[in-house]
Amino acid sequence: MSGGDRPDITVIDEPSDRTSTLETFFIMKLTWLSHASWLIEFGSLRVLLDPFFTDNPAAQVQADDLEDVTHVLVSHGHFDHVADVGSIAKRCGASVIANFETALWVGKQGVDDTVGMNIGGTTTLTAGDDSLAAKMVPAIHSSGLPDGSYGGTAAGFVLTADQRRIYFACDTAFFGDMTFYAEGVDVAVLPIGDLFTMGVDDCVAAIKLIQPKIVLPTHYNTWPPIAQDADAWAKRVIAETGSEARVLKVGEAFEV
Ligand SMILES: [Zn+2]
Repeated sequence: MSGGDRPDITVIDEPSDRTSTLETFFIMKLTWLSHASWLIEFGSLRVLLDPFFTDNPAAQVQADDLEDVTHVLVSHGHFDHVADVGSIAKRCGASVIANFETALWVGKQGVDDTVGMNIGGTTTLTAGDDSLAAKMVPAIHSSGLPDGSYGGTAAGFVLTADQRRIYFACDTAFFGDMTFYAEGVDVAVLPIGDLFTMGVDDCVAAIKLIQPKIVLPTHYNTWPPIAQDADAWAKRVIAETGSEARVLKVGEAFEV
C-alpha cells in the first residue's frame, strides 16, 4: 500500500439489502425427460428444451402431461427435437424460441408466439419478475425439418441466470470453438450417444476443453443405435477430467 494521505480502499461487493437479494436467488432445476428433452425451471419460468415424447420409446411422460410451460427452446429441426413443440406451445400458450427457419415452420403449425433468432444472438426469456438469457451458440449438425423443408442451422444454447451459466451443447460433434462459448460453465449438458452426435471419447475431450464444474449426459439410450453406458462415461469423466459427472434417470432432476 502506498503511503501518504490516501486511505486504504476496500471494495465490498455486498448488496445493500441482502434479504431481498437472497429471496430472488432462485435455484435452477434441470429435469431430464429422456433423449434430448429437458425441463428447465427457474423462478416462474418453465422452459422446455427440444420436447420429444410422441414415438419416443424412452419417454415416461407425454406431451399432454406437461403443464404451464412458459417457453420452448428448439435446437434444430429434426423430428426428435420438434415432435411435440407445436402441441405443447399451443396448449400452454408458450413462446417458442428457435432458429429463424424453424421458428417460421413452428408458426405454420399454428403457434402464435415464436421468436426466430440465429447463432450468436441472445434473447431474454421472461415470466413474471424472472428472466434468463438464452444465447444461441454454434453446433455442428444438420437441421432438416420433418416435412423435408429447410430447418436452418443447428445450434446449442448457453443459459444465464443469477450468474449461473448452463451450456446445452445439443446435437453436435465435438469442436474446439466450444471453449469460446462454454469454458468454465457451471453445468454442461453434452451428448454421448454417438452416431448422430459426439460419442463418449469426444465428449470426454470436450469436457477437458471447456472444464465445466458439472457435466450431465444427454441424447443417448433412446434407441439401440445410441445406447451408451452412462455410468462408465461418468467414471471416465471423474478419472480423466476435473469435472463432476452426474447421471440422471429419466424424470430425475438436478438443481444448481
Ligand atoms: Zn437428435
